[in-house]
Amino acid sequence: MKRHTAIIASIALSMIVTLSVVAHHAPPAYMQNDWTEPFPAFRIAGNLYYVGSKGLASYLITTTDGHILINSNLEASVPMIRKSVESLGFKFSDIKILLISHAHGDHCAGSAAIKQLTGAKYMVMEGDVEVVESGGKSDFQYGNDPTTLYLPTKVDRVLRDGDRVRLGDATLTARLTPGHTKGCTTWTMRVADTLKMRDVVIVGSPNVNPGYKLVGNTVYPRITEDFEKTFRVLKSLPVDYFLGAHGSYFDLEAKYPRFKLGEIAFFDPTGYKNFVDDREQAFRMELNKQKDTSKVAD
Ligand SMILES: [Zn+2]
Repeated sequence: MKRHTAIIASIALSMIVTLSVVAHHAPPAYMQNDWTEPFPAFRIAGNLYYVGSKGLASYLITTTDGHILINSNLEASVPMIRKSVESLGFKFSDIKILLISHAHGDHCAGSAAIKQLTGAKYMVMEGDVEVVESGGKSDFQYGNDPTTLYLPTKVDRVLRDGDRVRLGDATLTARLTPGHTKGCTTWTMRVADTLKMRDVVIVGSPNVNPGYKLVGNTVYPRITEDFEKTFRVLKSLPVDYFLGAHGSYFDLEAKYPRFKLGEIAFFDPTGYKNFVDDREQAFRMELNKQKDTSKVAD
């Protein structure tokens, strides 16, 4: 009898544990397969390292005074990022500053956990602050979709366009490239590779997601002007190393094997130019399509 009760109790307990884990870690509906697929951590150039998964990019910038991490990714990504940082010989607890590409769960849902584990200061661009602090609820497009929400996370420093983030001997510049989110941020920095100082660009996102309303968007009236600004900014930046919030932006999978063979594969100003041109063309096509549709509706 006692044994029977113990079994029932243990089944009940495991059900509660399973349910609470599922409730907390349910994968978002927009989830893509390669987002949680591990990828080897490696040094891109100088003090800049790749510590993300196959589909979700994260970057570690090491300095004399601790480290900066760009992108916390999904909640489930945090142990993977930690493993990547440690595999390079760095301490996860030395992360002093946490930054993001933009306030979508695939780049910022892990922020609450990383803040808790490291005590890092969370620095976010103005237009995205309200979104991350509401756990995604105030997002103009996805706020009502519960599968996109994450733990609300307090921002320690509000960034504005052109602000610099400094730690030890490293300086990053936050460039506002809005539209995809209101505070979407492209990070720029300089790194020393074997030859000289180089310009690095980590693109926030230039993408018009499916369902984005570019014409007559009442919750984000400036969206089209903001995308226009993004393409102006992206085209004006000096670029040697081309990186971004997703590996797919800069062909991580194709470039990594070449990089392993000794090629400076991530040094790719031409790839950057092609990517920005392609994304601008996609934006203009979508804008024209929506303008035509709204004319018909008139
Ligand atoms: Zn996004």
